[in-house]
Amino acid sequence: MSLLSVIVPCLNEEAAIPFFYEEMKKVEERFADSYPGLSFEYIFIDDGSKDKTVDVIRSLRKGDNRIHYISFSRNFGKEAALYAGLSKAAGDWLVCMDVDLQDPPDLLPEMFAAVADEGYDSAATRRVTRRGEPKIRSWFARMFYRLMNRISDIEFVDGARDYRVMTRKMADAILELGENNRFTKGIYSWVGFNTKWIEFENVERIAGESKWSFFGLFRYSFEAILGFSTAPLSFVISLGFIVTIMAFLLIIFVIIRTLLFGDPTSGWPSMICIIVFFAGTQLLCTGIVGAYLGKTYLETKNRPIFIAREEE
Ligand code: UDP
Ligand code: MG
Repeated sequence: MSLLSVIVPCLNEEAAIPFFYEEMKKVEERFADSYPGLSFEYIFIDDGSKDKTVDVIRSLRKGDNRIHYISFSRNFGKEAALYAGLSKAAGDWLVCMDVDLQDPPDLLPEMFAAVADEGYDSAATRRVTRRGEPKIRSWFARMFYRLMNRISDIEFVDGARDYRVMTRKMADAILELGENNRFTKGIYSWVGFNTKWIEFENVERIAGESKWSFFGLFRYSFEAILGFSTAPLSFVISLGFIVTIMAFLLIIFVIIRTLLFGDPTSGWPSMICIIVFFAGTQLLCTGIVGAYLGKTYLETKNRPIFIAREEE
């Protein structure tokens, strides 16, 4: 017997949960044919919902003891919910999915096959269309992925969802990253492992509404930049460098000009040289402090130094 844990974060999802459960039962039937030895467990995370989400989960649990849940004392965010779910799950395989059916349960058999039969450590999904989403939001998303891939060492896949099947080993690796500010897509990518990407078309949510506002997404992308890149800190060093070099050129220019044409506004040449020179060196020094701060910042995350995929 082996176990697949389904981890489902829920914030104000009383309307969507029953649909989700029904869909999953259909998917389970498909699994019963191809993987008779496989059983399911469900870990619902109520992320501080203000509606009847937790009651709905409780009543499902009465009829099905494979359902477990954690109810948060307040809203901690989806990232925290996923972490809680991964740490509670007992499965040999784990899958994180949204409750609103925007992560199509129909894909699950194919994803599971990749991990169970094809030797992958994880099967991830990405949306290839953003149909039904405001154009401006899609544009910002595209720009964001382009920027992240330039300033960060790890790969960010455009349209990637948090919907992912993974082995126990990969889940344990994710749990080892105990940082408080979590950007799950980055963490998935940081821990590595062989991942099969499965593409699908965007689906509208079944009930309820999206928890994301435009500014929410903006903050979220900021989280990603701060969490996975120290590029903004190194930027100051480059700027300081450029300003210092410009200051030197300016000083040479001002000296030559003063020698040739005299000093009509008395004191100006020396003044401007001093100002520009110190602005440059100050920026450079701030940048150096920033570089050390960047290293300290990464150290305080206490991430593992390596993650093994296999060893004997
Ligand atoms: N969610 C959560 N905590 C939050 C925000 C969202 O647990 O603070 C859950 C939500 O219930 C849903 C999933 O995360 O199951 C994705 O949220 P949503 O559908 O709002 O995001 P979108 O699909 O619009 O990106
Ligand atoms: Mg959704």
